[in-house]
Amino acid sequence: MKRSHDCGKIRAQDEGTKVELLGWVHRRRDHGGLIFIDLRDRSGLVQVVFNSKDADLHLKAQDLRSEYVIHVKGAVVKRSPETVNKELPTGQIEVLAEWLDILNTAKTPPFEIADPRTEPDETVRLKYRYIDLRKQKMRENLVFRHKVIKAMSDYLDGVGFLEIETPFLGKSTPEGARDYLVPSRVNPGKFYALPQSPQLFKQILMVAGMEKYYQVARCFRDEDLRADRQPEFTQLDLEMSFVEQEDVIGLIEGLLKYSLDALEKDIDLYRGKNIPKISLPFPRLTWNEAVGRYGVDKPDTRFGLELVDITDLVKESEFKVFRAAPLVKGINIKGGEKLSRSDLDKLETTAKGLGAKGMAWISLSADGLKSPIIKFLKPAEIDAIVKRLGGETGDVLIFCADTFKIVHAVLGELRLELGQKLNLVDQSKFHFLWVTDFPLFEYSETEKRWVANHHPFTAPCGRWDDLDERFQRDPGSLRAQAYDIILNGTEIGGGSIRIHRPEVQQAVFKMLRLTEEETKRRFGFFLEALEYGAPPHGGIALGLDRLVMLLAGMDSIRDVIAFPKTQSAMCPLTGAPDVVDPHQLKELHIKNVL
Ligand code: ASP
Repeated sequence: MKRSHDCGKIRAQDEGTKVELLGWVHRRRDHGGLIFIDLRDRSGLVQVVFNSKDADLHLKAQDLRSEYVIHVKGAVVKRSPETVNKELPTGQIEVLAEWLDILNTAKTPPFEIADPRTEPDETVRLKYRYIDLRKQKMRENLVFRHKVIKAMSDYLDGVGFLEIETPFLGKSTPEGARDYLVPSRVNPGKFYALPQSPQLFKQILMVAGMEKYYQVARCFRDEDLRADRQPEFTQLDLEMSFVEQEDVIGLIEGLLKYSLDALEKDIDLYRGKNIPKISLPFPRLTWNEAVGRYGVDKPDTRFGLELVDITDLVKESEFKVFRAAPLVKGINIKGGEKLSRSDLDKLETTAKGLGAKGMAWISLSADGLKSPIIKFLKPAEIDAIVKRLGGETGDVLIFCADTFKIVHAVLGELRLELGQKLNLVDQSKFHFLWVTDFPLFEYSETEKRWVANHHPFTAPCGRWDDLDERFQRDPGSLRAQAYDIILNGTEIGGGSIRIHRPEVQQAVFKMLRLTEEETKRRFGFFLEALEYGAPPHGGIALGLDRLVMLLAGMDSIRDVIAFPKTQSAMCPLTGAPDVVDPHQLKELHIKNVL
């Protein structure tokens, strides 16, 4: 079909031009002699006018309704000054219709497309996603996502990466979530697992000599869903040979800088302001520093309120809660006096919800200290605590005394709540941060064994020949050559340098208490590959959905995914997951026991 112009791109300079347009009726206003149509295509809107001077055409235009699909020919005319629409890029002009063909009619949409204020329930939006995606914001989101992927692919292509696809039907991989399983018809009783990530295949591609691989990879993890999780999500996944941690970090910094610079105009438009260019290198924290100072391994470093250790100051205290706890830390809420008593109570409720027994506080008000705990503390202790936390009149100090895990979980969360409540977060910047030196293993109370913190292919820091000895001495002290990248307090990616020597990989499996038989069954093919000259290698994966969401300033990853699922992993559009015909189950040798 012929289209001379995109609707949203016609400008005053086109005055007098004959145009031929295709699109949807966005809005229709019938003013008797004149019928106005806002015609919409992917590029935007333009006003088309049907004049009663051409009676046949005018009559035809009377049939037009919202979302009819039409083909129009006409001439571009300038609008009179009082009818210029400053809100629209095409608002200086309109198209005087000369010919109309109605390509298709449409039922009345289940919700308004033209008015973004009338947002229906999300399930309705997802059921009629094809209507929802017609909204300007949603259309822009998908265009933007495309541009992010394109910029990243351009950059990686430019520095020698190959895009290589890996299978969906594979073997269970070790990211630690539950697998989505697919029964095999031709291999009765056997199952494929959908990939939680292309981890093992990308490492095998390094053994195969591909050197630099990337893929916009779909990953499947059958986890309980939270707001920013989907059962299937997209990663920009990559792997490189002959690299050390610095090489991967340098590559990702270059990639993000290139992509954000390339998308600068789009991002500023989205955010309605100029976002300062990001500068390299990104700041770094070790895992110890991140958790110690911010309570979490993905800190939002756009504001202060850091955690301060006071354990040594209260070791001899008569206040048993402090004296007996393995760790006591506090936060100085600067100017916290403006918090109400009920605000403090809410913080305490959060603290208790995370396992704390309570939340102690001291208010440094102008008319003296107020606190339920000062009666238990000596003046010298109070002075030392206030000094360590840099307390001044008007501040409120809060404390948590408990285990390492609880103190950090509690204060880390309270810090975030306070950042929001006190409006401390600078929304105008992108704050990237690396967190490095993660623990290699963490102890799983449920499984009663040490488990890999990232995944079991992650290389340990330090020498590999005394690894076993170090593990026997203190498994928790081992550090990994693993790195996460954080944007504004959200983890947007993570990766590691890998173990490329089979005997070291074997040893790590043993530390994880995988039996020889299990190792062979699950990872035998991989260990074998490592025996055929595996180069040193490492990589990373960026969570594309989250990254696009944050760059675009959206609140939900579902707004940057064309066809997302609901919180209960359903697709309201297609009705998936659904029952299947009994004969399909029979072919798969599966019995439905429900
Ligand atoms: N496969 C890892 C993940 O999805 C990323 C990596 O180690 O490259 O978390």
